[in-house]
Order: sequence, then structure tokens, then C-alpha cells
Amino acid sequence: MEDETLLMLPGPVPMPERVRSAMARQAINHRGAEFGNAYADIVRVLKGLFGTKNNPLVISGSGTSGMEAAVSNFGKGRKMAHLINGKFGERMYTIGQRYASEALPIESEWGTPLNLEKLTSALEDGVEVVTMVHNETSAGILNPGEEVGKICRKHDALFIMDGVTSIGGDVFKADDWFVDVAIVGSQKCLAAPAGLAAVSVSDRAWDRVVKNPPYYLDLPAYKKNAAKDPMETPYTPAVPIFLALREACLIIEEEGIENRISRHHKMAKAVRSAVAAWGVDMFPKTDAIHQYSNTVTAACIPANSNDKDFRGSVKKFGIQIAGGQDHLKDKIFRIGHMGAVSAPELLATIAATEYTIRKTGHKVTDSGVMAAAEVLG
Ligand code: PLP
Repeated sequence: MEDETLLMLPGPVPMPERVRSAMARQAINHRGAEFGNAYADIVRVLKGLFGTKNNPLVISGSGTSGMEAAVSNFGKGRKMAHLINGKFGERMYTIGQRYASEALPIESEWGTPLNLEKLTSALEDGVEVVTMVHNETSAGILNPGEEVGKICRKHDALFIMDGVTSIGGDVFKADDWFVDVAIVGSQKCLAAPAGLAAVSVSDRAWDRVVKNPPYYLDLPAYKKNAAKDPMETPYTPAVPIFLALREACLIIEEEGIENRISRHHKMAKAVRSAVAAWGVDMFPKTDAIHQYSNTVTAACIPANSNDKDFRGSVKKFGIQIAGGQDHLKDKIFRIGHMGAVSAPELLATIAATEYTIRKTGHKVTDSGVMAAAEVLG
């Protein structure tokens, strides 16, 4: 049955029972104490995950609404540069084209390191706002937030970083890394339902907020309403999802942020060990500062298979993994390991993928299940 399929995607991810039941209830007033308390709980936990002293603002919209809020409130009418090495870097650029006075793409092949030299010259040429995707989900590469933050600050530019699939699953230090605007999506590492984005904003970014942001994504209006007691949003929010996100945040608080991040690192190591044991190539090309993602692993589909057959075979075991997006379709498969995923779920996914790889005729060098079990055990 479709609804019993295990989703090992880079979002949405399976939600703990507590999260699911938190939203199955009677409506509440979104301008009252119960809602305000839920929002306050979310903000308390997200601050820790974002690594910021600022209160993240919650928008009723998917991760892309957070990207658009960031670009429109801080880049509108300004010269922007967009670091691109995958689909979501491209999306930031597409949004930039709608708002910036000039949107400059700084492109690398998907899954290859960003061109930071070109970024430096763009900043020397007067770029005021830079966007980067921290964890480029489409390619399974983790881009260097800290290094790019330092470069932007040196040139006094605002730095917008998409943490949609890293915040809550990997180290993220918005304040220490000079990230002015950071974004997370609810259905990724937070293991909540899809439909909310949270955006944190630094003081220096607030000093530069544009005059006429889009009406629904007017971040100063979100800030003003969040400062009320009880906390509010400017317009009617997706209340059931707020309540579910609050429960997801309480679960994260119980686990502890450091434990959660170590768990994600361990899961990623287990999947990467399996890929190495299979003798299958990882997709991204890393260097000293670009790393493999700790929340999604992207590896190459063996030469004589394709996306449909490969993922279809894994799905026979009741497990959904992701394929490649756009031109990477048929070239790569991606295993999401974010949120509340457990060791048994991960091992089952690796077993089903290993079976599939063997069936393609690819000569597997070693047992991926054994390699992963060594890491998880
Ligand atoms: N940014 C990254 C890195 C993503 O992985 C995604 C979705 O996969 C998004 C942004 C867009 O998020 P949403 O689909 O929630 O709008």
C-alpha cells in the first residue's frame, strides 16, 4: 500500500506518531495563547538548530516560500550573485531574476565545487547580496557555508543561505558563519509535515530590508507579529502544521541537538560505506571544503540500468528512494537519511538497494549491508 511505503527521500520524510497526532484535532484560534505558545516552542528549538540568537520567523509555505522571502526582502532592486552547483542553486537564481536589479549566476557543474574566485571578483564588482545552497540536495554535496560567509562579510555583502535540507540534520551556525538570512523547510530534517518554512534574519540584514517586499512575504510584518504576546503571524497560518512542527521540535529538543547531528553523521557514514563496498561511484566531486552531504547520499546508477527499473526494484520492497532531477535522471539515485530515520529503516534500504545493484549485473566488491552495519552497530 502506498501509504505504508517507507519514504527514504530527501524530504518529505516519515513523521513520528506524536507529530502526526498533534495535527489531528479541533481548530484553535490563531490569535490566542495556545497558538502563541506553540510558535514560541518552535522558535526556541529552531534558534538552536540555526545557530542564531535571532528568532526564526515561520511562513505558511514550503521551503521555496522561504527562499523567495529571503531574496525579495533583501535582494529586490539590488545586484545579486547566485552560487550554483545543483537544482536549488538554480532556483535561487531564477528567483533572483524576478527581484534583483541584476542577477549574476556563478555556475559550476552540478555536484562539483562552487567557484569562489568568481564570487570574489563579483563582490569586487559591487554585488550586494549573495545566495548559496548549503546542502545541495539534487547533487548530494555540502557547500562551505563558513568560507562563503567570511568572503561575503569581507565585502560587506548580505549572505542568504538555503539550509532547507541541512538545518536540523547537520551543523549550521548562522551567527558564527555570518549568514544573514537562513531558511529551513518543515518536511526535511525536522521530520514535520510539508508546508512551513522558517527564516532567520540578522540585525544587519534588518537594517537593509527593502521598502516594498511582496505582500504575503513581508518579513517585517512577520517580525512585528512574532513580537506580540502571544506570538502571532500576520495572516492566518497553517495551524495544524504549526502544531505538528511544534511536536517535531519538542522531539528534537528531547533528543538533543548534538545527538541529533551525530546521528545524522553516523547514518550518512553508513550509507557512504555501503556505496564504497558496492564499488559504485559517489556522484559529487568534493574537495577540502566541499563535503558529501550528511542528509542525502547521491550515487551513480550502474551503467546498464535506468531510473525507472532501479527505483522500481527498490520499491518492490516497500521503500522509496529518489532519482536524479532534470539531466541527472537515469544517472543517479539518492537515498535520503534525514529526520527520524532509524537504523533498521536504513539497513532495509541499503539491503534493497544492494539487491537492486546486484541485479543490474554490476560486480559488487563487498557487502554494503555489512559495511553499513559495522558503522551503525
Ligand atoms: N532548497 C533545497 C536545498 C531543497 O532540497 C528543496 C526541496 O527539496 C527546496 C529548497 C525547496 O523546498 P520546497 O520543495 O519545500 O519548496
